[in-house]
Amino acid sequence: MSILNQIFLNICLIIRQILPPQPCLLCGSATTRQGWCAACHATLPAYSASKCPVCALPTPHGETCGRCQQQPPHFSRTCAAYVYSFPLDKLILALKFRAQFQLARPLAEAMAQQIQRMPDCLVAMPLHPHRLRVRGYNQSQLLARELARQLRLPLFSSACMRTRNTSTQSTLKWKDRNRNLRDAFSCSAAISGKHVAIVDDVMTSGSSVNELAKSLRAAGATEVSVWVIARTLPDDR
Ligand SMILES: [Zn+2]
Ligand SMILES: [Zn+2]
Repeated sequence: MSILNQIFLNICLIIRQILPPQPCLLCGSATTRQGWCAACHATLPAYSASKCPVCALPTPHGETCGRCQQQPPHFSRTCAAYVYSFPLDKLILALKFRAQFQLARPLAEAMAQQIQRMPDCLVAMPLHPHRLRVRGYNQSQLLARELARQLRLPLFSSACMRTRNTSTQSTLKWKDRNRNLRDAFSCSAAISGKHVAIVDDVMTSGSSVNELAKSLRAAGATEVSVWVIARTLPDDR
């Protein structure tokens, strides 16, 4: 780490200690932690159950699930820090729709703890330019920026584009999501020959990351991993 970076981090640390406690986004009690308090932290649904290493859906002994064996996706593994359920869903929605940017750092820290195999670079799940204009920011880009900083990995911000403004995936049934996303992404050759990790907030059917992984592989990526804050489990829908 350069001396300038070290000084900057120390200044951030001092500022955090000086700032008055902030309300926890989940219960409202004052906390010096970023985003949520220690008591609420203990209630977050960590994803510790045995799961398929490829798609992160539960399997009895952590083996690859039947679906991934029969129809392997275009990515090799999925790392998910949490199950997408209460009260974590409130934090993700606050980051995604209420511009609670301070959540990106602690959520990225939880994601970073799950990583076992380091990629060569990161890309964020892109938003279509129209949706980016409406929302004003891309929450996956905020997470990817934090992860790149924490893990000292290059982030290829403009390597992937969403070329079609697809319907919002969450309004569709799981089986309709693949069709909705066909040819939705284009990726530059910057990622050729690299192991790329896609950073996204939530993985539900996996259709979006699979379509992006397909485009990354077509552009020459040798391997694709998927990093998400949380995995939606089928029973939770
Ligand atoms: Zn709290
Ligand atoms: Zn699987």
